[in-house]
Amino acid sequence: MAVQNDPVNYYDPAGAEAVPAGDAVCPVGAGEGLQYVACFIDVVPVGNFPSTSVVWMQTFLALQDKLQAQLAEAWRTLDKGCQEALSAHFNLSKVAASSADIVFYDTRDNRTAAFHTYDVSGDRDLAFPTLGQSVEGAVATVLWGRDDKISNKVALNGTFFTLTYTEQNLTLVHEALHVVSGMGDQALAEELGLGRYDRTVAGGHAASESIANWLTYGCKPVSSI
Ligand SMILES: [Zn+2]
Repeated sequence: MAVQNDPVNYYDPAGAEAVPAGDAVCPVGAGEGLQYVACFIDVVPVGNFPSTSVVWMQTFLALQDKLQAQLAEAWRTLDKGCQEALSAHFNLSKVAASSADIVFYDTRDNRTAAFHTYDVSGDRDLAFPTLGQSVEGAVATVLWGRDDKISNKVALNGTFFTLTYTEQNLTLVHEALHVVSGMGDQALAEELGLGRYDRTVAGGHAASESIANWLTYGCKPVSSI
């Protein structure tokens, strides 16, 4: 099906489902995933589109509520040493506010995993065209958006949901730091004084691990670890 001359509709890439009424009024645009979902739910009578879509959207929106609440709590209950260390780099009240805008994508859901990163965040990186691929091998990943800028979209791997609550909280804080700072792993690790890292995939993994460990162990200056 085509939506405003855009043949890519990630709810139904094959065009097999009947065209829901909402498609005429809720444009699908790059990076507009959540707005599209919200518009869909507001505008379309539930009977007018397939029940699998209704269930998917309800699940999607419930996850936003749950994880945004969890992230807000993660900031509130963050180790005092971490709060202090981070406040040297970021305005923490601003950080908590920006965190509320993050959109989470649970890639355990096949439909979500198959979303094209470009449709969700505007990133044209063809090496990892889908959300499932972009978070492969990681617990969670923030998506790059347009113009090599970090987006506010976070893809979650199934492993995220196997972590303890505390581990999940630190993962959410880690991803939120990317969104708020606009920095990838290397730049963020360097900003936090955790050493210097190559601008390679391996360098990114090493930097990511350093940030995760630093958060886990109370955000102490790296020389005293
Ligand atoms: Zn990271």
